[in-house]
Amino acid sequence: MKNSNKKYDYLIVGAGIIGMTIAYELKSRNPNISIVIIDKEDNVGKHASGRNSGVLHAGFYYSADSLKAKFTVNGNKLMKQFCYNNDIFVNETKKIVVAKDEIELEGIYELQKRAEINGVETSIIDEDTVYKIDPNIKTYKKALYSPTTASINPLEVCFKLKEVLEKKDVEFYFNTPFSKCHLDYGYLVNSSGAYADKIAQQFGLAKNYTMLPFKGIYLKYLENKTDIKTNIYPVPNLSNPFLGVHYTITSDGSIKIGPTAIPAFWRENYSGFNNFNIFEMIEVLYYESKLFILNSFNFRSLALNEFKNYSTKYFIQTAKNMVKKIENNFKPMPAGIRAQLLNTKTNELVQDFVVEHAENSTHILNSVSPAFTCSFSFAEYVVDQINNNKLRYNSILNKENL
Ligand SMILES: Cc1cc2nc3c(=O)[nH]c(=O)nc-3n(C[C@H](O)[C@H](O)[C@H](O)COP(=O)(O)OP(=O)(O)OC[C@H]3O[C@@H](n4cnc5c(N)ncnc54)[C@H](O)[C@@H]3O)c2cc1C
Repeated sequence: MKNSNKKYDYLIVGAGIIGMTIAYELKSRNPNISIVIIDKEDNVGKHASGRNSGVLHAGFYYSADSLKAKFTVNGNKLMKQFCYNNDIFVNETKKIVVAKDEIELEGIYELQKRAEINGVETSIIDEDTVYKIDPNIKTYKKALYSPTTASINPLEVCFKLKEVLEKKDVEFYFNTPFSKCHLDYGYLVNSSGAYADKIAQQFGLAKNYTMLPFKGIYLKYLENKTDIKTNIYPVPNLSNPFLGVHYTITSDGSIKIGPTAIPAFWRENYSGFNNFNIFEMIEVLYYESKLFILNSFNFRSLALNEFKNYSTKYFIQTAKNMVKKIENNFKPMPAGIRAQLLNTKTNELVQDFVVEHAENSTHILNSVSPAFTCSFSFAEYVVDQINNNKLRYNSILNKENL
């Protein structure tokens, strides 16, 4: 932990993709401002931003009125642009969403409808066309094809962004939890991912929210890299925010399956007793049990199904259902945790991004998937919101001084 006598214009809490893209946008608009980014870990991307699927989504899942729909299409373009400009390989993998029966076929048509409303390039293709793209894929009558979905290495993006920001004089203080940070600042941006609710509550915000952790386990395929040629996804249950176990072709061309969405017991419950916190466990178990009893948004079947994924056999079988042939040869990869905001009043998982403001601070409360894809575009919106918030408080102050 460091102390400094300098007063920074902005203190950003969290060196994940959200904090760093907001710093990038602030600096793009005004190169002269001073920014410090603090993180409790010893480097960037140690949590969700470095432990995700690395998929640049296209934007067809989200209802038209959502912030997710608003920022995914442009975010996908801006992230690709950042990668091209900084020599980061973008694997233009494309993607196919497959159906297993008549009911899921309806889901394919619903996704196509959402794509059209959201201005996303997709098409419905028949089994012959699916076969031409990847003869191994199984689908029921039709599938949804997305040509703009791609893969990148998310950690490589985070490290490059850090380098770019340092060149713009943004300072990073690592091993610096917010509770022990004594830096002086004009405006605070809380982009602390899994702990954003806790920090926001210190500013009198996020009163009806808490974060629930869902563990995303991945398995890497150890056989032939050409066995799967494109990202393959099932039709998701649109009443919860998870997309279902899928195949991703990573930026180095390997194949992985996952992530699961298994209810976890504390916020950084990656494996074993890693980062165990008894107070968090009591809080998380309280809310998970409540959801289980009330069965809000079918949490009971979601939880029971997801727990089955602890069996590798079951997990692999789920993925096997989408293809004609795949070997059983997989090995575990590092897991990620999706920090998912729960509205404690309505007992619902919040589907969209949430941004709240207090005087001289802005808090990003639900930076769930596809926030990595959206990040550069979302940051433009957050910075507009920060400027509006400053104006709002200035005008309140001016009125009080009249
Ligand atoms: C399994 C999984 C798969 C995903 N797949 C995709 C995908 O394919 N495509 C996509 O677009 N999105 C995906 N996402 C979502 C994406 O990873 C997240 O939306 C995004 O990384 C959130 O970024 P963030 O900066 O808000 O959070 P984080 O990356 O978690 O960063 C928050 C930072 O805050 C720090 N911090 C926390 N508390 C404190 C504190 N008190 N003091 C100081 N620092 C603190 C943490 O150490 C951390 O570095 C996935 C997420 C997961 C978990």
